[in-house]
Amino acid sequence: MQDLFIRSLRARAVNVPLEFPVRTSVGVVDTSPLVLLDIETNQDITGRSYAFTYTPLGLAPVRALLDSLERLLEGQLVAPHEIEKLLQGRFRLLGNTGIVKIATAAVDMAAWDALAQHRGVPLAKLLGGQVKAIPAYDSHSMDGPQLGPERARRAVAQGLKAIKIKIGHKTLKEDVQSVALIRETVGDDVHLMVDVNQGLSVPEAIRRGRALEPFGLAWIEEPTLQEDYSGHALIRDALKTPVQMGENWFSVDEMHKAIVAGAADFVMPDVMKIGGVSGWLRASALAATYQIPMSSHIFDEISAHLLAVTPTAHWLEKMGLADPILAKPLVYVNGAALVPDVPGVGIEWNEEAVERFAV
Ligand SMILES: [Mg+2]
Repeated sequence: MQDLFIRSLRARAVNVPLEFPVRTSVGVVDTSPLVLLDIETNQDITGRSYAFTYTPLGLAPVRALLDSLERLLEGQLVAPHEIEKLLQGRFRLLGNTGIVKIATAAVDMAAWDALAQHRGVPLAKLLGGQVKAIPAYDSHSMDGPQLGPERARRAVAQGLKAIKIKIGHKTLKEDVQSVALIRETVGDDVHLMVDVNQGLSVPEAIRRGRALEPFGLAWIEEPTLQEDYSGHALIRDALKTPVQMGENWFSVDEMHKAIVAGAADFVMPDVMKIGGVSGWLRASALAATYQIPMSSHIFDEISAHLLAVTPTAHWLEKMGLADPILAKPLVYVNGAALVPDVPGVGIEWNEEAVERFAV
């Protein structure tokens, strides 16, 4: 088999409309700002990934960084471990975190995609796993008394067996009402999670968490500031509901600190922030060491492959932030994501949509 080398990088920015704006306790995300990365190789193989920048303000700097990485990566063997070492060395002094990490993780994910294509197998198989169905929950927002139940009914009708909603309203009463309404709509057999998006103080999170206990929640996510691991541990001690966190860890080291602090019952690293496929693999080994159930955060497509090889795999978050610009969005059947049985990750752009939403 002829070796695969990087020939060029192409980064494009899009700002994709969302069917439902993501309404959280700390603000609204009403579009999906993505930087799409194509790694062209010396063979007829293109590795693809995307970065989610949370705000359109992040698009230009992430794209610029990827553009400037091209010279460094041109001619490199598509060996993600070696590429990671190269990039870590190059950014050691600047700090491989934040926007830098977002760009380097996009390179990592695209390199793994290219490598799996080169070997002619789905990423899950390249990593020693198999193509299978991954249980998923539908990820909703602070959708209010009309849209909330409507989305919940639609999800259940589509076969989903778990739903997450956002809470952290102005008052405890509103939080209890919104959870009660969804529980009433979907019944007791659907798993129900809540996400506070860091919106509460530690005492208030405990007060609200206790008031929500009768609803049998599967987890309460980021009840307080994400960097406050001891605060999370206090909340965890006070509640019967499991505490979930992890989407804001920018390294496996942060994840380790949180686990050692007893901050969470469950973990949910974000494949991009944790460092791409390479970072995820180390995170999943850490979760396995501590026997902590591990879920994904957005990035449905690549997370499905990765959960297939995660020893403590828990839930896949169904968010579909890139669906409008994908030629073949991930398929869900009976509440589970189907890992696509194609070489690589299975990401292909819908070029017409990419052009329409280009920034
Ligand atoms: Mg969250």
